[in-house]
Amino acid sequence: MDKSPVVVGIDLGGTGSRFVVSDGASIISRSVYRSAEIGGDVPMSSVDSLATLIAALIPSSCELVGVGIGASGPLDLDNGVVLNPHTLPWFSDFPLVSLLSNRLAVPVHLENDAATCALGEYRYGAGRGSSRLLVITLGTGAGGSLVVNGKLWNDHLGNHLELGHIPLGFLVEDCYCGLRGCWEMAIAREKLEKRLEELPRPVRLSDVDEMLSREDDQDVCGVLNSYGRDVGRGLEAYCVAFGPDRIVMSGSVSRFLSLFLEAITSQFARTRGFEQKVTVVQGTLEEFGGAIGATVLAGL
Ligand SMILES: [Zn+2]
Repeated sequence: MDKSPVVVGIDLGGTGSRFVVSDGASIISRSVYRSAEIGGDVPMSSVDSLATLIAALIPSSCELVGVGIGASGPLDLDNGVVLNPHTLPWFSDFPLVSLLSNRLAVPVHLENDAATCALGEYRYGAGRGSSRLLVITLGTGAGGSLVVNGKLWNDHLGNHLELGHIPLGFLVEDCYCGLRGCWEMAIAREKLEKRLEELPRPVRLSDVDEMLSREDDQDVCGVLNSYGRDVGRGLEAYCVAFGPDRIVMSGSVSRFLSLFLEAITSQFARTRGFEQKVTVVQGTLEEFGGAIGATVLAGL
């Protein structure tokens, strides 16, 4: 009997790497492994352990036909190389795509992790049915991708758009990318955490939900409103430039979206004829979104 084709999507992370197996219609399995345990001291040992792991995930009735990988950049997409020795030392600075493809004898595709996350939400998550979808990742950094009619909208060289690095006029802080006032400098997770921890009654971000369910703390609400407005300013700029019909918020901070969604949309208020017809919703794929989207790269 012919075996059913499946693909594997991988989200390479600095701590954990996530793997999912898909038959193109649904996700068959999902798993997470510590990146340091997969990675080796030399490139071939990382490639060997990735290949062994992938092979072990394929059910005996199925045949692997492709692999998609999402990784935090920078990436050299022409040569299939991750250039991120700080976060992904085990998978950086060697031709990961061609070595793994040769080892498994199937095509391997590489994309930025924000892009795979966007593809995942488009195909399987909160972005289904959108014709022009903006997916924003709020986490350690801030990033995002635009998916137009199911296709990633990349720059003229085919590279991922670094949407966290749009300089906004009301911000003055210098950014590590060389620009001043980048959106990411205001909305990265640690900025929100710091603002909450500097309050007269400090609170951890992870405790905010529970705290606000018990009492109405004006200082905490003030920080969340101010954060939401900062998020909204960047989204507003992208609505003007890209005209999305839907914005999906993903990443670890998006779990708290309901606490600052109103502040986000308050930034969209416009005079008659200039209104934005866009909805802002929370992503549904959570931490496996990048790996699920990587299966879309692999072609099923
Ligand atoms: Zn920047």
